[in-house]
Amino acid sequence: MREFVYERPTTLDAAVAAFAGGGEAALIAGGHTLLPAMKSRLRQPDTLVDLAGVPGLSEITRNGDMLWIGAMTTHATVAADPTVTAAILGLAALALLIGDPQVRNRGTIGGVLANNDPSADYPAALLALGGTVETNLGSHDVDGYFQGMFATALSDGEIITRVGFKIPKASAYAKFRHPASRYAVVGVYVAQTADGVRVAVTGAGPGVVRWPEAEEALTASFTPEAAKGLVLGGDLNTDIHASAEYRGHLAGTMLARAVAAAA
Ligand SMILES: Cc1cc2nc3c(=O)[nH]c(=O)nc-3n(C[C@H](O)[C@H](O)[C@H](O)COP(=O)(O)OP(=O)(O)OC[C@H]3O[C@@H](n4cnc5c(N)ncnc54)[C@H](O)[C@@H]3O)c2cc1C
Repeated sequence: MREFVYERPTTLDAAVAAFAGGGEAALIAGGHTLLPAMKSRLRQPDTLVDLAGVPGLSEITRNGDMLWIGAMTTHATVAADPTVTAAILGLAALALLIGDPQVRNRGTIGGVLANNDPSADYPAALLALGGTVETNLGSHDVDGYFQGMFATALSDGEIITRVGFKIPKASAYAKFRHPASRYAVVGVYVAQTADGVRVAVTGAGPGVVRWPEAEEALTASFTPEAAKGLVLGGDLNTDIHASAEYRGHLAGTMLARAVAAAA
């Protein structure tokens, strides 16, 4: 690992200033993605700006039909927090499926959503539930936020402060986990809202996507039977874990499981 300057600002403004302080900078939250990337020299920042000392980034609040989760909230906290479990049980259950206890105790929701790994879990929840990514510069509606593999609407150095999820009538997530990493080979989040059903799929292709055919079928009938026979199409991954065809069928199976589990 190359030498770098470590900064631990205690305000959001100081974090912004430290990031702009010269050379290549990187924000660090839980470090579960960034540190392996630095060890393997895929990332070689001159300055590391740790968000752990910035107050107010781990709050969880419910306001009307929105659930707000601070960017530095760990997956373990999302899984266990009573405000989250009361508002969106499917989101808490998803957090419990991320990685292992070490990852859940360090990894953060902001880190996942900034990184946008094509197999990560939270992107499916946010895209299906609908909502907002708030930052130091303003906010991004979720429908324009995810922009393909490891790409988002964030600009360089823009800091996620909190994430807003629309509270659905019912929702759930089902994923077929990679047995070693626990990332999604395919994961499907389904949300029943007042305006119809939204479905988002992660792991299957180069980035999280909505699944319009599934949304139409489930808006007509929100039952596992309505998911029967649905196969995800489009640009899907073939790799050593599963072929594109297999992933397409797996998405249908995960969809039916998510609908059956929706609460
Ligand atoms: C063994 C293992 C298994 C895993 N399994 C899963 C899994 O099953 N499902 C899953 O979804 N994920 C999984 N992960 C990833 C894990 O959830 C990480 O926590 C996550 O990808 C990154 O979060 P972090 O807080 O560690 O971010 P970091 O590694 O600190 O940062 C990641 C990126 O986000 C940026 N960033 C961080 N916070 C912010 C912010 N507030 N604003 C703007 N940019 C920010 C950083 O600059 C960096 O580019 C796994 C990781 C490991 C190591």
